[in-house]
Amino acid sequence: MLRFAPSPTGDMHIGNLRVAVFNYIVAKQLNEGLIIRIEDTDKERNIEGKDKEILEILNLFSIEYESLFYQSANLKYHQKMALQLMTEKKAFACFCSDEKLEELKEESIKKGIPFRYDNFCENLSDETVLNTNAPFTVRLKKPEQNIKFTDILKGDFDYAPFDIDSFIILRQDKTPTYNYACSVDDMLMDISMVIRGEDHISNTPKQIHIRNSLGYTKEIKYVHLPIILNAQTGKKMSKRDDASSVKWLIEQGFLPSAIANYLVLMGNKTPTEIFTLEEAIEWFKIENVSKSSAKFDIDKLRFINRKHIEMLDEMRLSKILGFADADIGKLAKLYLEETSTIKEIKSKIDDIFSQKNSLEGFEDEFKIIKESLKNATYFETYDELKNYVVEKTALKGKNLFKPLRFILTGTENGPNLADIYPFIKNYLGEIVR
Ligand code: GLU
Repeated sequence: MLRFAPSPTGDMHIGNLRVAVFNYIVAKQLNEGLIIRIEDTDKERNIEGKDKEILEILNLFSIEYESLFYQSANLKYHQKMALQLMTEKKAFACFCSDEKLEELKEESIKKGIPFRYDNFCENLSDETVLNTNAPFTVRLKKPEQNIKFTDILKGDFDYAPFDIDSFIILRQDKTPTYNYACSVDDMLMDISMVIRGEDHISNTPKQIHIRNSLGYTKEIKYVHLPIILNAQTGKKMSKRDDASSVKWLIEQGFLPSAIANYLVLMGNKTPTEIFTLEEAIEWFKIENVSKSSAKFDIDKLRFINRKHIEMLDEMRLSKILGFADADIGKLAKLYLEETSTIKEIKSKIDDIFSQKNSLEGFEDEFKIIKESLKNATYFETYDELKNYVVEKTALKGKNLFKPLRFILTGTENGPNLADIYPFIKNYLGEIVR
């Protein structure tokens, strides 16, 4: 079983989507299920509605999953297992106040050493614990031995008990911390492989230690994906980069199939450059993904998007653009040389159907041509239309073609009128208004 475990705390980042895509592909390859686990236990950071947004995005990307869980629903298990750990003296109640912990932190900063809990509460007697009337957190005792694991991309890791520390598993309000809830759920959900971002690598020994303490012996394979850099600036793709938001990319008119294609292509050796996720399932190898950071290049995504738009069925493209006529899909594809997103194409199509009132420098010609076309609403071919206008207006050269193009397309440049015409001939009445 694999899982994608987003927190509903903000817009979905392309790094998260890449994690979702890889989990989806690998689950399919291994013929295992994929669970979506919304990690909503940090109430202060949750943002209302973000869970729905994440699910909508997964749906848009055709990332199918077996089941959906909200982590908060597992609270009773998180608490029950914490109690078990306390009974077995593997975890303890910690009454240290936030102020005291803050002081300890400041001291270690002054000394230039990493902060670690001073274990003050670790050896309190049961009696003291029972008689202390103060809020407490639950801490897991640090391991006695090093925790080692192998990451499929990054190799071997070895963490000393000091680095793991006696960390908090239940907050004062008895809700679980991220590492604890995540680890217990991975165990309860029988997860066999965790694919996630490399920012979680130092959490992994803690999560293994939690499962070890609970007596869980099944090994989980780990893949930590490198961060994504902005190819233009060389810096981490952060919230400040518009293109880091999946929602923004969709709004700009990048097709989900193209975005998914690029996220797999990026930092990877693939047999072809343009493919669908279903095709990638045939040849993708998670162990071949580059372990150094992937570079996100929006120009490359534009190129891929054009290819995916080209591959779209014309009727489908027409519908995406808000029409129900394959001709509009064919017309849209003519604009692919000068555009690369649905939004840009849509603006070209909108120009065609816009109300045109005059053309600077050609005011008279514009008027005459428009007048000539007013009552004649249908011509089978572009030549027929052109000959008709010539006959009626006696215009020629740029005095004919510039305003005629503008009347028919709403722009001064673009694909050949003869190429465009077959797809707009049925709309002449609407176009020449
Ligand atoms: N909720 C965590 C995140 O979004 C999940 C990390 C994990 O996959 O374990 O970063």
